[in-house]
Amino acid sequence: MNSATLAGVGMTSQRTRARMVDRLREQGIRDERVLHAMGLVPRHIFLEPALANRAYEDTALPLGFAQTISQPYVVARMIEILIAGRELGKTLEIGAGCGYQAAVLGVLSKQVFAVERIAPLLARARDNLKQCKLSHIRLKHADGNQGLPEAAPFDTIILAAASAAAPPALLSQLAPGGRLVMPLVLPKGVDQVISLIERQQSGFVETKFDAVRFVPLLPGVE
Ligand code: SAH
Repeated sequence: MNSATLAGVGMTSQRTRARMVDRLREQGIRDERVLHAMGLVPRHIFLEPALANRAYEDTALPLGFAQTISQPYVVARMIEILIAGRELGKTLEIGAGCGYQAAVLGVLSKQVFAVERIAPLLARARDNLKQCKLSHIRLKHADGNQGLPEAAPFDTIILAAASAAAPPALLSQLAPGGRLVMPLVLPKGVDQVISLIERQQSGFVETKFDAVRFVPLLPGVE
């Protein structure tokens, strides 16, 4: 845990964060380490100043570039499924946006890699994570469809953008026993659910969870 590194950041929002954690608990988040990490990360610093006062509402909010910062409940739920009561180990996030979820992952793991395809958003993520003193998170401007071969294999992989199937490169970069969590677009192309894919000895095993709404996983970089 890197909780000490976050001490002193966003003290004024501590009470509102504690209320957010209470709400996450009421909504069914059970993993205490995930709740603790959600309580530590100051979400307001990841938002534009005009939206910062809404940082602890349980909603997705605009980030610019037609992208959104994920809803706290969904971040907590997906990480709870990803961690599965174990350790995150070496983890990869696809779609860092402004870096909020990467920060939560960074409290839970010493080895975090995050990829973002929109350069100005990645620059913002870099500044935000510096403010949180989470300097161990490694960020890369790249197309997440290709994963991050130079750092593979990963124990856990999380996507913050939706696709009709897990990109093959990401499956191949999953360590044996590894877990990947993503928003999966269902066959009619509209509804999305959280999907967990585990790399077992027998092959990849998929489990579907709650309905969600994410921006699409796009090809290439900009
Ligand atoms: N993780 C963010 C959510 C950002 S929204 C948070 O904590 O709030 C999803 C992000 O995925 C967007 O920033 C979008 O640009 C990015 N994205 C979409 N397709 C991608 C791809 N192929 N590779 C990398 N990032 C991608």
